[in-house]
Amino acid sequence: MSETPAEARSLNFLEEIVEADLKSGKCESIHTRFPPEPNGYLHIGHAKSICLNFGLALKYAGKTNLRFDDTNPVKEETEYVDSILEDVRWLGFQPAHIFYASDYFEKLFELAVRLIKKGLAYVDDSSSEEIALQKGSPTEAGVENEYRSRSVDENLRLFQEMRDGRYADGQKVLRAKLDMSSPNMHLRDPILYRIKHAHHHRTGDSWCIYPMYDFAHGQSDSIEHITHSICTLEFVPHRPLYNWLIEKLEIFPSRQYEFARLNLTYTVMSKRKLLQLVNEQFVSGWDDPRMPTISGLRRRGYTAESIRHFTERIGVQKRDNLIDVSLLEFCIRENLNKTALRKMVVFDPLKLVISNYPDTVEMLSSEDYPEGAEINSSRELPFSRELYIEREDFMEEPPKKFFRLSPGKRVRLKSAYIIQCEEAIKDASGKITELRCTYLPESKSGADSSGLKVQGTLHWVSAPHAINIELRLYDRLFKVENPGSEDGDFKEYINPDSLQVLTHAVAEPSLRNAKFNQGYQFIRKAYFCLDKDSSEEKIIFNRTVSLKDAWAKEVKKG
Ligand code: ATP
Ligand code: MG
Repeated sequence: MSETPAEARSLNFLEEIVEADLKSGKCESIHTRFPPEPNGYLHIGHAKSICLNFGLALKYAGKTNLRFDDTNPVKEETEYVDSILEDVRWLGFQPAHIFYASDYFEKLFELAVRLIKKGLAYVDDSSSEEIALQKGSPTEAGVENEYRSRSVDENLRLFQEMRDGRYADGQKVLRAKLDMSSPNMHLRDPILYRIKHAHHHRTGDSWCIYPMYDFAHGQSDSIEHITHSICTLEFVPHRPLYNWLIEKLEIFPSRQYEFARLNLTYTVMSKRKLLQLVNEQFVSGWDDPRMPTISGLRRRGYTAESIRHFTERIGVQKRDNLIDVSLLEFCIRENLNKTALRKMVVFDPLKLVISNYPDTVEMLSSEDYPEGAEINSSRELPFSRELYIEREDFMEEPPKKFFRLSPGKRVRLKSAYIIQCEEAIKDASGKITELRCTYLPESKSGADSSGLKVQGTLHWVSAPHAINIELRLYDRLFKVENPGSEDGDFKEYINPDSLQVLTHAVAEPSLRNAKFNQGYQFIRKAYFCLDKDSSEEKIIFNRTVSLKDAWAKEVKKG
């Protein structure tokens, strides 16, 4: 699968809308926004929305705001705000402005007063149970209660008293006076404001009434002159209310457009569920490398570029769908194939002694990148008489097509020599503890005059130079494709083997200087990155993704 140039790709439906609006003069330039609620870390679904909003503005020379939708004082924290800022920047985007819906509390209050003055909002004393009952059902009209006919003056006084803290939580709400028999339940006098005596992460204790999503969101869009307010499909039934409020308040006419949210196989995406995984310690934190969060993917070794490509490839849909996580894996693999430094690491070491090799150390050169890569560099590797190879690369009684090492057989050691296995040494229990081999001095890689052809090439590490590293091998966090849609609690479907830690791996010494933000390919094994918990005493690598390319095979087959 190769990248399609932007010009060659047909427009997605949002690009079509934007182009039409620019052409007709409906707007001079576009202004989008990304409006996260700071009640959790961003996940790959949010990345889709970020790339879409910022991507549209970049493509059509517009602007994108980052707006924290912080109208719910109870669930929000500054830790989340900080992580969101970091993730958006890391993905490669610069917001034109950073705003907080809470900055608009005064303005929103004034807008609510405007609505009351127009006779389009009223203070309701009913309890939340009564409100729910009076609302009716989709097949049965709701009923108008006695508070609905309050005078404008009374409503103004009561709303001010709500703000002044005269009432307890839940004692009163402000509702739009709309249509109690509308077939759209969202239009049956939706609640605009509720009382909540709670501390807010930015406004402190200045407010005890807070606007509901439907009242804050569209109005904030309008205040910022957002032209295209892009959200996910569950907001389709909210759109009539979004438009009604803008029309009645006579404010800037932002327009809402909806696309399908991104769902990925073998994971859950809702912040509520991700929070449970964190709180109940199924994972080590929001940035656990198994999490679908942007910080988790980053710690896992995903690059911003690979995530942007992924969101580009899946496109913009109007219908809910489930994307195969192997497409995401394909994108990072494709990216790392070009950028990852090749290294030799032995996961499960077996000692190998080359009996005819002198007691010296030789420096050999090995390529950092695969053949044909843009960058062409190499490093020096120490080679000596005692090496480690992968235990699984030796078999005493091999099956027919085993091209690795076995008694009497030859293989090439990567970037080094051809060796032949002479003997396997065992301990009392019969376990192989060491291999004795001989090498062919004239078979050195790059200067091979041996004339011999061998089928297998093994990776290796010089034993006296080897460094110890810890490997964290991650697998999918869930055992089933769609844990959110299975019976019972989604946590019952957690994969118990999603993390395997190898503590005895040995690596070539150059990995002592491994860097963050650099991908590595441990050849013949997988892609890895340095973990943030790594230190000089304990070097830790996370497996980003395996080398095998299941998705590409699927595509070829299909
Ligand atoms: P969640 O349901 O995961 O808790 P949310 O929708 O409550 O997410 P918000 O912080 O309100 O999270 O979302 C910010 C923006 O990101 C919204 O515009 C929302 O529509 C969008 N978004 C959230 N989840 C996805 C997703 N899975 N795919 C695409 N966009 C998403
Ligand atoms: Mg939300």
